[in-house]
Amino acid sequence: MSNTPYRLGVLLGDGIGPEIVPASVHVVDAALAAAGAAPVEWQELPLGAAAIETHGSAIPGLTLEALAGLDGWLLGPHDSVAYPEPFRSQLNPSGTLRKHFDLYANVRPARAFEGGRAIAPDADLVVVRENTEGFYADRNTHAGTGEYMPTPDVAIAMGVFTRPRIERIARAAFELARRRRGKLTVVHKANVLQLSSGLFRRVCLELAAEYPDVAVDDFHIDAMTVHLLRRAADFDVVVAENMFGDILSDMTGELAGSLGIAPSLNASDDRAMAQAAHGSAPDIAGRGLANPIAMMLSSAMLLDWLATRHGDPRVTDATERLQSGIRAAVRDGVSTRDLGGTASTAQFTDAVVARIAAEASAVGVPVDPRAS
Ligand code: NAD
Repeated sequence: MSNTPYRLGVLLGDGIGPEIVPASVHVVDAALAAAGAAPVEWQELPLGAAAIETHGSAIPGLTLEALAGLDGWLLGPHDSVAYPEPFRSQLNPSGTLRKHFDLYANVRPARAFEGGRAIAPDADLVVVRENTEGFYADRNTHAGTGEYMPTPDVAIAMGVFTRPRIERIARAAFELARRRRGKLTVVHKANVLQLSSGLFRRVCLELAAEYPDVAVDDFHIDAMTVHLLRRAADFDVVVAENMFGDILSDMTGELAGSLGIAPSLNASDDRAMAQAAHGSAPDIAGRGLANPIAMMLSSAMLLDWLATRHGDPRVTDATERLQSGIRAAVRDGVSTRDLGGTASTAQFTDAVVARIAAEASAVGVPVDPRAS
């Protein structure tokens, strides 16, 4: 068991990022203190529009170098479609980080909140999205974007599917299903894209022989949207290629209540990056309206990943305190506008810290690091 401090990067990003990322840092600090775990050593690094101004790049080399030496990091959303050229046409910051660090598994849970206005209140599933190839053409090249236009009226995009990468994401999904309710759904479009999506389906189903304790089924992506709308509660772990997984997980986030509560972790075998599933929400940025739950729950996923990796029960305890503090705040009627409430980002954050403090007060642990 270790009680050495983890060193985590803080990448604020754009839009609502500078609101939701510091809110997440604050609740992580509170949960670790409540659990008696060592405090995180945070290191803020440049990324996004501000980094274009200061370093001439949305993801400067010094950020990549610093991240390589850390235990993990929190990534705020980027508003890459608003970047000036040439930055807008380049691989965006999160794509760059996923590619650079080979963060091949994008794990996106969708679980409804009591009091959280869910379309599918019984939903409790996880989309495991392949993060490094598939139909996102800009992940598939060493240089260039994987898209090109032979004439002004013709655009061609490259999809790539490879057995080793399908196999490693399928294994991650099977292992997760084994730790959950033992069900895995493979999503594809093998009826039309027989070679590419067909390979994805085949490799996933071949692995099923190694996991006899996991029940496996598979659906075409179009049919899967209908199944999710009708009976989201029946699904446990869902594995999909990059683009299908991205689209499906926005939908499952909304089914569980709001995109604003949809977390994600991007992980390789030895690195992890917490990142909300949503974007930079420029329509509400800077107004204190952003729901920080997705970023907070993503941070909890990072804590859980660290705890598992390092066998650190205090950090497991902090993860549970953080998750239950968020749930308690929503259950008590404190929520941001997207969940039907009136709380600002800061008020919701304070409510979570207060719930963590209330839970810990029985043993007299001071939990608000700003108060100490
Ligand atoms: P978006 O996810 O930013 O917003 C979609 C809708 O959801 C908006 O109405 C927004 O207000 C709302 N929303 C999103 N997050 C919320 C939150 N935490 N609380 C309350 N409401 C929230 O999607 P978009 O508008 O298509 O994209 C905006 C920018 O974000 C674009 O530049 C896009 O490229 C980028 N983007 C980044 C990421 C990322 O960083 N991982 C992911 C998706 C989109």
